[in-house]
Amino acid sequence: MQFKEVLGNGELKGRLIRMVDSGRTGHSIMLVERDGYGALPLALALIQYMICGNRLPGGDSCGVCPACRKIAEMVHPDLHFAFPVNVSSKSGSSKKPLSSSFLQEWRQLYRDNPYFTEADLYARLGIDGKAGAISVAEAREILDSLSLKSYEGKGKYMIIWLPERMNAEAANRLLKIVEEPMPDTYFFFITHAPDRIISTIRSRSQLVRLYPAQTEELVPVLQARSGLSAEEAAVYARTAGGSLGLALDMAGEGSAAAAWLQTAENMLDAVVSGDLVRLLEGNEAVLAQGRERQKEFCLYMEALLRRMMLRRRGLDRISDALPQEAGAVERFSSVFPDGFYEKAFKALEEARTMIEANVNAKMVFCHLANILFATKNF
Ligand SMILES: [Zn+2]
Repeated sequence: MQFKEVLGNGELKGRLIRMVDSGRTGHSIMLVERDGYGALPLALALIQYMICGNRLPGGDSCGVCPACRKIAEMVHPDLHFAFPVNVSSKSGSSKKPLSSSFLQEWRQLYRDNPYFTEADLYARLGIDGKAGAISVAEAREILDSLSLKSYEGKGKYMIIWLPERMNAEAANRLLKIVEEPMPDTYFFFITHAPDRIISTIRSRSQLVRLYPAQTEELVPVLQARSGLSAEEAAVYARTAGGSLGLALDMAGEGSAAAAWLQTAENMLDAVVSGDLVRLLEGNEAVLAQGRERQKEFCLYMEALLRRMMLRRRGLDRISDALPQEAGAVERFSSVFPDGFYEKAFKALEEARTMIEANVNAKMVFCHLANILFATKNF
């Protein structure tokens, strides 16, 4: 990946290039982004620039020398990865799989879509429904791979994707090497939640914050990748808050809308028609899924209701109903009174918090159904 291929963040790329040119590259760099902004392709462009034997005068790697090509294909022997994983049908017999068990899937996912989201990774690894983790064993593996000499003599590069998924013990294992790095070792922490990383690692790192891409930057990329019209692509770009990865997810078959729109519509129909039994039955579809998916349902329902509320208030322009949701948003927006929405948002947020805290899911969603049912006439 060359800098010129990375979406948006023009000013930031300029800063990174000047940082390398002036020899001020830190040994621990923390890239802070929202899911799907593209910190991974940016980190790879940066590493490629650091390692390229034939840098271009405009401030980019050449993209064609052997080092560049090995980085672009993620097969450079001095480039290492750690990312959250969990047990899955693809992890083999190990009860505690490591990133190395999934390197093939990881590379292929990046080739398919460098802007993949955390959910995309878990789906690809076959662990969706569970969260991934970076274990103590993985931390040991990281230290081992960095203890070797650089194969090609141009430094060693460790990308840790979502260090917030490390527990304290794993993070503490890494602390010493981050505090006192070897001169040729570079860490790239890519995080969606810097507050959840131990402060000692955070404070030792150079913070690099990515910005959302502009709608006009995203629209052509979305169109090229998913065949949307410019108008539809603009809706996805805005709804995704400038995140290409999230926008692609929303437009794709694996999207939350594809997974949950029908269930959400059924449940709202049951609320409207006063059919509590059907509403509780609707819960079964949610209960059949793992906790991560159940949280996703709550988030999706909240987003869908928000679009209905905005539509009701005549704020169509910012309600940004996705094309596949337009019918449902139109139909329900005239039904629920204003008071319904705030109460429903609160109930959905509570449900999400309780699922996160491992409260019995059946109880949580039964409670949620009761609140929605009782609230419809507010
Ligand atoms: Zn090169």
